[in-house]
Amino acid sequence: MNIQVFWGCFIPSRFPWLEKSIRQVLDALGISFAENNRFTCCPEPQLKNLDEENWFLTAGRNLAVAEELQMDILTPCNGCFETLKSVKILMRERDDINRKVNEALSTLQPSLSFRNTIDVFHLAEFFWRIKERIKDKISKPLEGLKVAVHYGCHLIRPSREIQIDNPFEPRILDELVNLLGAESVQYTDKLLCCGGSYERAGNKEASLTTIHRKIQHMHEAGAEVILVSCPNCYSQFEYEQLALERQDYTFNLPVFFITDLIGMALGLEPSDLGMDYHVIDVHPALKSMKKIMITREEIHDDFDIDEIEKCIKCSACVDDCPPTKLELLDPPALLEKVISGRLDEVLEDPTLWNCLDCYTCLEMCPDGVGFVTHLKKLRNMAAERGFTTDGFSRQEKAFKRLLKVVPDSKSKRKRLGLPDLKPAHAEDLKEKIEETE
Ligand code: SF4
Ligand code: SF4
Ligand code: SF4
Repeated sequence: MNIQVFWGCFIPSRFPWLEKSIRQVLDALGISFAENNRFTCCPEPQLKNLDEENWFLTAGRNLAVAEELQMDILTPCNGCFETLKSVKILMRERDDINRKVNEALSTLQPSLSFRNTIDVFHLAEFFWRIKERIKDKISKPLEGLKVAVHYGCHLIRPSREIQIDNPFEPRILDELVNLLGAESVQYTDKLLCCGGSYERAGNKEASLTTIHRKIQHMHEAGAEVILVSCPNCYSQFEYEQLALERQDYTFNLPVFFITDLIGMALGLEPSDLGMDYHVIDVHPALKSMKKIMITREEIHDDFDIDEIEKCIKCSACVDDCPPTKLELLDPPALLEKVISGRLDEVLEDPTLWNCLDCYTCLEMCPDGVGFVTHLKKLRNMAAERGFTTDGFSRQEKAFKRLLKVVPDSKSKRKRLGLPDLKPAHAEDLKEKIEETE
């Protein structure tokens, strides 16, 4: 596919680090593109509310000068995408609009017209179309990273013109996130607009309230980063988070552009992706990601990941597990955390010790595994790190000291006329156990 990038105004002028990120990723994917110095602002979709005639003329001109290169347009901005794609589709489907725009174009230059022979793609849509190529180039899957996807209105609506995804159940960004090994978390108000236009309408408070509501839900869903594919949305989440901080609402949810996430999965350094320039510091999230990745590599030595994954998916015996019925234990959730690299969290979780060793799960398991097998290993690891309950710890101490878990009750035995208990002759075992301490 021959493409020319339509950068729009926001990215090159206000957020050049996003431009850097996009260039790096396209380069890493081996995608070359042309640039067109005749492009102007798209113009911004909101401008059609002020002067629709010039909005059509400017968009038509951008399409016409792009068509002269006979290359499709690729844009990393939802606003540019909506404008250019809508005008393209309207000119194709409405003779009156087509005629009017082309007549206006001829007043700029007699030969200038748009014949609808090129297409317009959003960067996210483009990546989704080449997902197999991306998949082949992933060198550092982002396993365990929980991502809250924000689509942004103009990537999916108005769907009659945009035509890339379901306007109410979009999936392309979620699929890309999952393809990279991360997890797209579902949260309330996922399709709510970022509220960017409220500020233009003079309603700063509504803009803040909207972003607060969205970020709160993302946070509650366990998201570690926000993913956007639009510089306007990016700006909203970055700067309104700062404004929320000034009101004592601190979330510190870093905002990743789509190419930041893809770039990291391709093995590019965050600094090469311009991520040091982000407003909300990305480094704490990157640090915990790194830790999770290292832990994930390590857990391969201790656990059969395939078996754990099978267990999580199956969960057939979970309703028969007594502590789970009492909501004292959630084996699939614990195992989910293990494979996503949150082993430390699991080992410190006291509910781990609520497994009764009743073996119901083992008996029910068609594969003879049982949650208990995994939980036993986890409790061993937790105990090694000193995380047990008082009860388990008392028993362990007694065993190591006496080679039995309950002390003798001499008086009871005496009253019953039973002889005193003698310590077991097991010095060899005692010595061995002491050695391992
Ligand atoms: S979410 Fe906001 S900034 Fe993003 S596309 Fe929609 S209106 Fe524009
Ligand atoms: S052994 Fe543990 S995990 Fe298995 S059913 Fe019993 S309590 Fe639940
Ligand atoms: S222990 Fe066996 S039955 Fe229970 S969830 Fe795992 S695989 Fe399924």
